[in-house]
Amino acid sequence: METKILPVTDESVALAKEILLGGGLVAIPTETVYGLGANGFDGAAVKKIYEVKGRPTDNPLIAHVDPGYDLTRLVYIENDYALKLKEKFTPGPLTMVFFSKGKICREAVCGGDTLAVRIPSHRGAQKVLAAAGVPIVAPSANISKHVSPVTAEHVYEDLHGRIPLILDGGRCTGGIESTVLDVTGKVPRILREGLITREMIASVAGACEIAQHKPTDKVRSPGVKYGHYMPRCDTARFCAGEEAKAAALYDETVKSGGRALILCGEERRGAFAGRDVISLGIGGEAMAANLFAALREGEKRADLIIAVEPEEKNGVYAGVMNRLCKAVKKYGEGGEKH
Ligand code: AMP
Ligand code: MG
Repeated sequence: METKILPVTDESVALAKEILLGGGLVAIPTETVYGLGANGFDGAAVKKIYEVKGRPTDNPLIAHVDPGYDLTRLVYIENDYALKLKEKFTPGPLTMVFFSKGKICREAVCGGDTLAVRIPSHRGAQKVLAAAGVPIVAPSANISKHVSPVTAEHVYEDLHGRIPLILDGGRCTGGIESTVLDVTGKVPRILREGLITREMIASVAGACEIAQHKPTDKVRSPGVKYGHYMPRCDTARFCAGEEAKAAALYDETVKSGGRALILCGEERRGAFAGRDVISLGIGGEAMAANLFAALREGEKRADLIIAVEPEEKNGVYAGVMNRLCKAVKKYGEGGEKH
């Protein structure tokens, strides 16, 4: 199958609509990462998402709708704080998990009784949703476990030959996936951290919990149990303050003929003079925006990516740390590798 990459225009959106309503898949830009979309009412189409990505079939998908869509067509909204959160943070990178009315196909929710819904703010995504007129279920448009895509080229690298169309809406500005928030209980509970932070949610809803995932728990957000965001090279992660150890590992690697690369916040770059460094920028938002692109660049450029954590762990940094810890193994610890 030939994979076209087209800029978002009236013509390409019309083609996307035709493919989606015909049971096919289209990669679409959003403000978080690129998504691999299918018609949420079409079980056979949604099944293709799992096949194309190699995604475990017990990991449900997020249904994307346009800002005018009446959510009560799809879900039960049982808590008023959810409406306040919708008002304040959508369209945008917040996914809310509600009890489902069972309208979206069971393949998308893996037979579960809840549905995750998001209203993207990206103009390209909104145009496709408005044209298609149906909810589009979409996970990130990468091969399962690989680093999420933030450009159309990243999608092409993973999925060319497997899907007919990638709509190119430029580089995603958010850079990490949406916050996933369970709004079925009396207090909202974060299942996956993202750009809408615990602090932001608590300021509107009064409180906000973070789900603790212990190995023995029944998994509430199945995505958290799989290896994720992994670059196709070796990785090593150090705490803030361990720059000397990171530099020593870099030097050792290079001395023995390997290619190493340092990933760190701009404020730490000075500790790595004369070495190959990708700076993730200044502040949590910048780190989120740059992380996945840096990991994808790193896997091409190096045999070993050495990341240094930010010192700060709250706010947007919580989402950055969540991705960084899954993508890059703590130095000295084993773990899953591509
Ligand atoms: P992605 O795999 O990048 O599409 O991200 C989707 C995330 O949302 C995964 O972590 C899923 O496990 C999570 N998710 C989707 N639907 C639900 C749901 N109904 N309940 C809980 N988590 C969900
Ligand atoms: Mg994903």
